Amino acid sequence: MDGLFLLIMGVQGAGKGTQAKYICDKYNLLHISTGDLFRAMKSRTDELAKHVIATINAGILVDDETTNAVLKDRLEQDDVKNYGGVLLDGYPRNEPQAKWLTDYLAGQGRAIDAVLVLELDLYTAFKRSFGRVTGADGAAYNIYSNHDGISWTFEQDANKMFPPRLVAQRADGTALNRRADDADAFAVIGRIEKFLNETRPVLPHYEAEGVLHKVNADQPIETVRDQIFGLIDAAKNRRKG
Ligand code: AMP
Repeated sequence: MDGLFLLIMGVQGAGKGTQAKYICDKYNLLHISTGDLFRAMKSRTDELAKHVIATINAGILVDDETTNAVLKDRLEQDDVKNYGGVLLDGYPRNEPQAKWLTDYLAGQGRAIDAVLVLELDLYTAFKRSFGRVTGADGAAYNIYSNHDGISWTFEQDANKMFPPRLVAQRADGTALNRRADDADAFAVIGRIEKFLNETRPVLPHYEAEGVLHKVNADQPIETVRDQIFGLIDAAKNRRKG
């Protein structure tokens, strides 16, 4: 494994997935999302896969040993050499994972080139996740920011035990969907809390190593993208220098 090794981090709703795609297209990087690797186990029937799917459906973190093994396996597949490097998304989620990755790379004489942190205030993060819906054609809308021609209703829980769910459809009646993990306010807040308590404490380590780069994610998508490109270009130049 050679080439750039980048991490993209940030609270849900910060735009990691969108930016990861831009980055990987421009720099020919392999996008490794541990969440995607786990979701891809859905079609398997072995015990490990069943355990992983049950865990992610419950919205809790997969244990570190399993997560590290799945990541290691992906990093060591043959196709990695076809890319100009790796962009890791959704990993590390906590301090033990961060340590594992540092040690793993060091074992190969390598290190993380840059950690790109998409910074977003938590209320905006909540609104982006709770308010987003997508059509079958991939079009995205948000009740708080991009809602023309969409009819929105709040569906009350029959027993008033849970916050209302947001239901959306286009004027022509076609339904719009929400991601299962955005489904209700509790789920969204739970993931924000996990980021604050477990993932954010990892950042000072990267800052101390001089590889942490913050980008304000509360800007237009293209502005965020161009700032990230500038940071990656600088990281590439440092490697050459
Ligand atoms: P994501 O797509 O990154 O939001 O991940 C979806 C789910 O996969 C999470 O809620 C966790 O259950 C699991 N997952 C993804 N990445 C990790 C990780 N680094 N450590 C533990 N669990 C993870």
